Amino acid sequence: MKAAVVTSFTEPLVIEERRVPEPGPGQVLVRIEASGLCHTDIHAAHGDWPVKPTPPFVPGHEGVGIVEALGAGVTHRDLGDRVAVPWLGHACGRCDYCVSGWETLCPDQQRTGYSVDGGFAEYVVADADFAMPVPDGVSPHDAAPLTCAGVTTYKAVKVAHIRPSERVAVFGIGGLGHLAVQYARLVGGTVIAVDVEVDKLELALELGADHVVNARETDPVAAIEELGGADVAIVLAVLPSVFEQAFAALRPGGRLVCVGLPPETDGPMSLPIFPTVLKGISVIGSIVGTRQDLAEVFDLHARGRTRVVAETRKLDEVNDAIEDVLSGRATARIVFQL
Ligand code: NAD
Ligand code: ZN
Ligand code: ZN
Repeated sequence: MKAAVVTSFTEPLVIEERRVPEPGPGQVLVRIEASGLCHTDIHAAHGDWPVKPTPPFVPGHEGVGIVEALGAGVTHRDLGDRVAVPWLGHACGRCDYCVSGWETLCPDQQRTGYSVDGGFAEYVVADADFAMPVPDGVSPHDAAPLTCAGVTTYKAVKVAHIRPSERVAVFGIGGLGHLAVQYARLVGGTVIAVDVEVDKLELALELGADHVVNARETDPVAAIEELGGADVAIVLAVLPSVFEQAFAALRPGGRLVCVGLPPETDGPMSLPIFPTVLKGISVIGSIVGTRQDLAEVFDLHARGRTRVVAETRKLDEVNDAIEDVLSGRATARIVFQL
């Protein structure tokens, strides 16, 4: 099978011919139809984060495809089912996090495309319990971005406890941001979209943003203050300085939801203590979403409540696609068609 492989953190990905993997006990073999390129895959390929994957590995955690073989003991998935293979590839199912609805925090988890091979390939093996059914009416092309960008921003909106009439600033209208705008609107928020690319801001308006701020031309903190300040700021951009802007744009009682994961070498964000305390600010980290969150994301999409914006590429074009995301040229998400 064809696979895009990270062989070193300093070299482009290599397209390799590999043996089709065999599903072990409790696993399924999935023939990938569509596979989204998340900025996380780029961080993985560059070894950006404190905990690094071990090359060679296959990235990709927005893989969607058809179950073609069942490992021993798999009784709840059928051949021919369409499933998504998300970042949370496995969690223990027994720890206090797993049993209390926080499987995303399980200390004993596998991360697809990071600690185990992912969806930038014609086939992937996945834990049958974590390969999530894709409902009829959701195409593989749409299901792929929903599998990470969708579930992650849906969860970020959930943990922010947005009330109708609150102002929600979304910093970064890329793969994640174009869906964050829609979920924030669905819960009644007034959305302020912040980016540095004109095209992305136009897309945000099309998707329902109430206001846009071009942070290349305008100070976003001043612009958001002029609108009355943000009750919630969701940060999806990949720069610590943007987290600091988002913090500064909050009104008293505001919530800073941190989702973007800039490279470790870019340093920490620094938050001033005095306004944090006096303004009663909450700082919330949010990591992907649970299987239930993903089921809800698919259900909303099947009912026509969200729109996925993505351009299709071939897997052989993976390195050009990465360049396009890094330079801000990509429209929302890039999806590889297998
Ligand atoms: P992306 O590259 O598609 O989007 C980033 C956006 O930020 C782009 O639209 C870019 O133009 C914009 N941007 C750049 N500079 C900016 C600035 N100064 N102000 C405002 N916007 C700016 O990336 P993505 O796939 O949406 O991922 C975003 C981040 O989220 C990455 O760090 C990724 O690793 C992380 N991520 C986190 C989780 C999680 O569970 N916490 C899940 C998925 C992705
Ligand atoms: Zn992702
Ligand atoms: Zn667990």
